[in-house]
Amino acid sequence: MFPNSIVNIKENLQRVQDRIAQAALKVGRSPEEVTLVAVSKKQSPEKIRMAVDAGASVFGENYVQEAQEKISFLGRTEQSDHDMVFFPCLWHFIGHLQSNKAKFVVPLFTMIHTVDSLDLARIISQRAGMEGKTQQMLIQVNVAEEESKSGTSTEEALELAEKVSELPHISLEGLMTVPPFLDDPDQVRPYFIRLRDLRDHLNQYLPRPLRHLSMGMSNDFEVAIEEGATLVRVGSAIFGPRA
Ligand SMILES: *Cc1c(COP(=O)(O)O)cnc(C)c1O
Repeated sequence: MFPNSIVNIKENLQRVQDRIAQAALKVGRSPEEVTLVAVSKKQSPEKIRMAVDAGASVFGENYVQEAQEKISFLGRTEQSDHDMVFFPCLWHFIGHLQSNKAKFVVPLFTMIHTVDSLDLARIISQRAGMEGKTQQMLIQVNVAEEESKSGTSTEEALELAEKVSELPHISLEGLMTVPPFLDDPDQVRPYFIRLRDLRDHLNQYLPRPLRHLSMGMSNDFEVAIEEGATLVRVGSAIFGPRA
């Protein structure tokens, strides 16, 4: 018999994927426009593997050391008795990134969601150059101007995006936000609209249009999709409460 958690993660994932599709179809978008980032911070590698087995392929992690351990366990080719088993995980960094940790993050992560200063973007670009890669990244915007949250202000976003776009080893893909937590997801809607409007505004000036909006978490991802999210970051609705 399978332990309960296998069934749950599989069912939870399926339910979240169904809800993503419903939300997209409701506003005439294709469900394929929305990528589910399964947020696995503070969840065990075993649970992540269950999600992989159930079909998840993009994972979001917040803490550098924790991510390094999990990625070395899950993300590379792995020796089993007879052959190499490959777990095709893509990793997105969604936590606060300190400049001195950029060197660990760049080689491991497909996308960094949380860039909020030119200094950090420069360090990432430099490191990406050393690794021979182009680092995909998003600019984090503090849409509600909350003291406690990182992110650039909406006013500063254009200048930052223009400068980041000039860096050699960076591909600026879009914007990300963590809006205020409100019980009623409809109350979060104005913040999602603000991020989308900002993206549309920036696209009038940038050399290459920003295609991604990373917004929406377990409590509000459907509303975020209705307002244009292309990346939703969903943790507890898939994995259950965090350790
Ligand atoms: C933890 C986290 C999430 C996932 O939150 P849930 O409410 O568990 O879905 C999404 N985005 C960021 C930036 C996070 O830190």
